[in-house]
Amino acid sequence: MNLNKNYENLEQSYLFSTIAKKVNEFVSKNPDKKIIRLGIGDVTKPLCKSVVNAMHKAVDEMSVQESFRGYGPEQGYDFLRISIQKYYSQKNVTLELEEIFISDGAKSDLGNILDLFDKDNTVLVPDPVYPVYVDTNIMNGRKVVFANANSENEFLPLPDTNIKADIIYICSPNNPTGAVYNKAQLKTWVDYANSNNAIILFDSAYECFISDPELPRSIYEIEGAKTCAIEFCSLSKTAGFTGTRCGYTIVPNDLGKLNKMWLRRQTTKFNGVPYIVQRGAEAVFTEEGLKEISENLAYYKENAKIISETMKECGIWFVGGKHSPYIWLKCPNNMSSWEFFDYLLENAQVVGTPGAGFGKNGEGYFRLTSFGSKENTVEAMERFKKLFK
Ligand SMILES: *Cc1c(COP(=O)(O)O)cnc(C)c1O
Repeated sequence: MNLNKNYENLEQSYLFSTIAKKVNEFVSKNPDKKIIRLGIGDVTKPLCKSVVNAMHKAVDEMSVQESFRGYGPEQGYDFLRISIQKYYSQKNVTLELEEIFISDGAKSDLGNILDLFDKDNTVLVPDPVYPVYVDTNIMNGRKVVFANANSENEFLPLPDTNIKADIIYICSPNNPTGAVYNKAQLKTWVDYANSNNAIILFDSAYECFISDPELPRSIYEIEGAKTCAIEFCSLSKTAGFTGTRCGYTIVPNDLGKLNKMWLRRQTTKFNGVPYIVQRGAEAVFTEEGLKEISENLAYYKENAKIISETMKECGIWFVGGKHSPYIWLKCPNNMSSWEFFDYLLENAQVVGTPGAGFGKNGEGYFRLTSFGSKENTVEAMERFKKLFK
């Protein structure tokens, strides 16, 4: 038996354990100080009423002989695929049902999709980046190159025609930076991919945070995307499904063999998302459901606005915060990411995430999130103003 040696090439991530250790040390020395966590990368609002009612109803169905369900279709129930098809048609994107695959979340599919691609492909990921893209490719032994996101390109790198990439990751609105590509910028990626016979793996987990109708919420709003892009989306951030687990992946027929290959992969290695969860997900896309989730999204977006306004008042450079729950700021006084982390903890008891943890271009930057309570966000920003205004 030989082990997969690629695992030895994974970099250990100490980001969140180091944060926890530093916070615990501070708390044990200063038990009377109130810590405010603005580093949360998870939703905090409960599931909306429509979702809960639909899941209750589905549980009742499962308890009765006549309506009990066992294995469902691996690619998801049609009732949910039809709701997603309708949801896309509202964005002027037409999808065939067979192009929509229901999953237990975007993270698993972003990793699993790599089953369809050869080891010899070159992978292009932005830096800073959601670590899943890099690590899943390292596990497979693929070569990863980076597209530099930085203050000059407002953390929205565009294709470099000197680099020949086969698999390209794009996340917009972005985690960790909150930056969003406009249609013209995404078009340059689509054109690059089509002319290089490359595939774009488009992560649209935060599409729901976009409020400007001019900004693309799906890559298929861009002409030519159906011949070069797979889209991954999730109800996690949209509807608070981080613990409930449901997402969907779009593999267009125009990608040739890929649609049938993905179906084969899923029917072989996956047995579907629970019926109860899919009924809950279906409820998200009803008129009532969409209205209810928009109230939660508005709450997070209000927090993001409070943080953004504070950065402006303090003259701190940042991106994000408008169509995203993330605010990506330049550490004041040229502090490094971890220096700023320590400084904020000591002087304001506010906890965020050092940008250096997301890649080398993250050094000198810092991520704040809007998933906290409004009261805490306001208080944290008052403390910010005392230090930096
Ligand atoms: C939260 C998040 C997801 C969603 O993952 P799930 O597995 O669906 O919970 C996907 N991509 C990014 C960048 C995220 O931050």
